[in-house]
Amino acid sequence: MIDLTIKEALEQLKSRKISATELTKAYLDRIDKYGKDLNCYITLTPERALQDAQESDKRYASGETLKLDGMPIGMKDLFATRGIKTTAASHIIDNFIPEYESTVSQKFIDAGTVLLGKTNLDEFAMGTFSKTSYFGAPVNPWQLEKRLTAGGSSGGTTSAVASGLAIGGTGTDTGGSIRFPCAITGLVGMKPTYGLCSRWGCIAFASSLDTPGPIARTVEDAALLLSAMAGYDSKDSTSSDKGFYFNGDLQPILTRSEKPIRVGVIKELMDVKISEDMKQLFQQRIADLKSGGAEIVEVSIPNILDALAAYYIIAPAEASSNLARYDGMRYGLRVEGSDIYDTFKKTRAAGFGDEVKRRMIIGTAVLSSESYEVYFMQAARVRRMIADSFNKAFTMCDLIVCPSSAGTALPLDSDLTPLEYYALDMFTVAMNLAGIPACSVPCGLAGNGLPLGMQVVGKRFDDMRVLQLAKHIEDFSKVDNRPTKIMGK
Ligand code: GLN
Repeated sequence: MIDLTIKEALEQLKSRKISATELTKAYLDRIDKYGKDLNCYITLTPERALQDAQESDKRYASGETLKLDGMPIGMKDLFATRGIKTTAASHIIDNFIPEYESTVSQKFIDAGTVLLGKTNLDEFAMGTFSKTSYFGAPVNPWQLEKRLTAGGSSGGTTSAVASGLAIGGTGTDTGGSIRFPCAITGLVGMKPTYGLCSRWGCIAFASSLDTPGPIARTVEDAALLLSAMAGYDSKDSTSSDKGFYFNGDLQPILTRSEKPIRVGVIKELMDVKISEDMKQLFQQRIADLKSGGAEIVEVSIPNILDALAAYYIIAPAEASSNLARYDGMRYGLRVEGSDIYDTFKKTRAAGFGDEVKRRMIIGTAVLSSESYEVYFMQAARVRRMIADSFNKAFTMCDLIVCPSSAGTALPLDSDLTPLEYYALDMFTVAMNLAGIPACSVPCGLAGNGLPLGMQVVGKRFDDMRVLQLAKHIEDFSKVDNRPTKIMGK
C-alpha cells in the first residue's frame, strides 16, 4: 500500500478497495519501524491520524468526499498546528503549542487529509542539510547505510515521503528548501509563485522570500497537493487571488499546443561547475524535450551568479527582524537574568543554534546605518535586475530549465564551511528573489545510483505550465522512487 501515489490511493479509496484507516495504519506501522532511525518527524500524531482517517472513511461511505480525502501527510514543523507542538526545530520554541492553525494546514484539514505528524527541518528553515535542527538531522533513505543528507531545510518531509513514512507533505522554500531536498531524494518539489500559498501561521524566516509548497513522489501528486494549499487569504497581505485549479490529470504541452513550446536554457549557468552526471542527464533531458517537440533557446540572466550574494544579504536581514520576537517574554524559552536585558541575552544565547545566530549577526550588520546602502540596498537592486532579466527571458521562451543541484546527496557528516553550504543554493535562490514558480523533478540516476533533479521555471502564475513540462521530464527520466524499492523493504 505504501508504494501507492496520491492519485492511485485516491482511486482505490473511491472504489473502496482500501479504507482510509487501513492506509493510515500502514503508514503508522512503517513509522514505528523506521521513523526513529530516519528521524524525519519531530512530533508524531498517531491518535489524530486515526481519528482523521475514521472521519474520512465516513465520508467515503456517504459518497461526499473531499479533494485529498484520507491522504496521510507530513506537515513541516514550521506550520502552526492548533494544539500540536510546533517547534521550527528550535530550542527557543520547542514547547510551543499554538492556539491557532496556519492557513496551509487548515486547507489540508479542509481537503480531508490525515495528519501523521510534524516533520523535521533546519532550525527556522535556515540550512541545506537539515543539520541545524535542534532535534538532529533526518536521514536520506537512499543507500541508508551511507547516512546521506535528505537535504534541507524541508529534509524531514523529503526523508518521510521518499521512505514511505508519508504519502506526501509540505515544505517551505525561501532559497531552495523544497527543490534541493527533493532533487537529492528523487522527489518532486514545487516552489509555487510567491503569494499563491498563504504564509499566515507559517513561522517566518524571510518574509519576502518564504514560499510554502508541496513535496510528493510524482508531478501529478504535487499538483494535487498544491491545488489544496493554494488560494487567497485575507490574513496574508501578500496573498494572491489567482488560485491554482487542478482536476487530477496534467495535460501534455509538448504535443498538444499548436506552436512548439520554447524551452530556455540559461547561458550563464552553463559554465557553473557541476558533476559530470548532472551535466549528462541535463543534456539528455533537453534532447528528449527537443525530440518531444520543444524548441530549445538560449536565454541570458546576466546577474544570476550574483543571486547567491544578494540572497545571503536579504534573507538574513529579514530573518534578524523576524526573529527579534523570540525574547523570552511572551512565549517559548526563558532564561532568567539579572535584569530584563540580561534575560533577553541569556534566553537568546541558550535558545538559538549557531547558524541562526550567524544569520542574525549578518542581518543586523547589513541593516546597520553604515552598511545599509552598500549591502542591503545593493542586494535589493541586484534582486530587481534578476527579476527583470527573467521577465525579459520569458519574452523569448515559455519556460526555462536548469539543474536543481550540482550533484547527488552528500554524507551527513561532510565537513563543509558555512560558505560551502551557502554555495549549494546556487541553482535555486534566483527564483525566490524573482518570486517565480520553479519545480524540481527527478531527471535520472547518477553513476553512484543516487537521484538527481532538474528544475522547470516559469513566469509568475504560470505554475500549471511549469508542472505540465515537469511531467514530460518525469516521463522521460522514469526514475523509480517507490519507497519499498528505495529502502529495499
Ligand atoms: N539553504 C538556504 C538557506 O539556508 C535556503 C533555505 C530555505 O529555503 N528555507 O537559507
